[in-house]
Amino acid sequence: MCGLIKQDLNVSEQLLKWIRPEIRELTAYHVPDASGLVKLDAMENPYGLPEALLPRWKEGLAGIELNRYPDPAASALQQRLTDVMQVPQGSSTVLGNGSDELIQMIALAVAAEGRCIMSFEPGFVMYSMIARFAGMDYVGVPLRDDFTLDIDRAREAIERHQPAVIFIAYPNNPTGNLFDAAAIEEIIRNAPGLVVVDEAYHPFALSSFMPKLEAFDRLLVMRTVSKMGLAGLRLGLLCGNPALINEINKVRLPYNINVLTQYTASFILDNAGFLEGQAEMIRADREHLLEQLSLLDEIEVFPSQANFILFRLKQGSATDVFTALCDQGVLIKNLDKPGPLKNCLRVTVGTAGENQAFIQALENALHS
Ligand code: PMP
Repeated sequence: MCGLIKQDLNVSEQLLKWIRPEIRELTAYHVPDASGLVKLDAMENPYGLPEALLPRWKEGLAGIELNRYPDPAASALQQRLTDVMQVPQGSSTVLGNGSDELIQMIALAVAAEGRCIMSFEPGFVMYSMIARFAGMDYVGVPLRDDFTLDIDRAREAIERHQPAVIFIAYPNNPTGNLFDAAAIEEIIRNAPGLVVVDEAYHPFALSSFMPKLEAFDRLLVMRTVSKMGLAGLRLGLLCGNPALINEINKVRLPYNINVLTQYTASFILDNAGFLEGQAEMIRADREHLLEQLSLLDEIEVFPSQANFILFRLKQGSATDVFTALCDQGVLIKNLDKPGPLKNCLRVTVGTAGENQAFIQALENALHS
């Protein structure tokens, strides 16, 4: 019996050698179990679909032909998104199964020996992970200590590494701030390759590079419906120069936007008024939460134009505070590790009640 197990292990090791070493070194993206907890870890919108829309939505669902493949280009949905997100006339769009898939499509389209993807650190982890999936190098240009963009460093890194793509999250995750728009424009002018401005948090920042698409050929603007309140649908949009979008579209898997997503997203965009109302509440609650956090002497709070707030424990351990919050039923994101995010935690703006539960639990954790 033992021998058999040993043999199985040998076989699997022989098979595993075919997996690229850089993939074997990775740890899979971890999503913690949030059951029973106040969930403020993943930048979700806390509000659901308004009750009044449910009957009509359900009625439409019944008519969906689950036995048929979806419209491969999701043309009707693409048109609705183009209108709602005010994509300029001369630009094209391609849809992804979440903007994560769009990042992957961009990487697959440019990947070649010796090429790199560049972004800023601390930044969104999927840029570096996907670079690795695609067999590319990743260059993370450090932000300043206050998490603003250091244009001199960026200029130098672009010159040295000649990146195939530069990803700029606007606002940035996990820091929450909007980089200086003039600095981003300078990066676009200096870049040799593509520049993607990732506007995942646009509903909370209300500042966009979308109108600049006409001015810069190499610029692509990426949006998602996830933070607007539709994270479960998995739907992202990449907009830009038709020639570039045409090439990126070639690596898209057919039917990547399923029938339920196509139907539901179109239905919601036809009734989109409530989404802006929810975003407005979240923006107001963010300001309130920022105010409350800034009253706590034990922490340093960073400015946010997103639906989350980054803060740092001035003393003690952020990991201990994170655990104490979990013990009180509140889940946020622990970012505490050596480097620029040492002793940092990130909280998503929830409902007023959830935010209050978080503040109460944080005060208990800090003062216990
Ligand atoms: N870009 C940024 C900056 C993000 O923070 C996230 C999600 N956390 C994404 C893209 C991915 O969003 P999605 O795949 O849900 O569209």
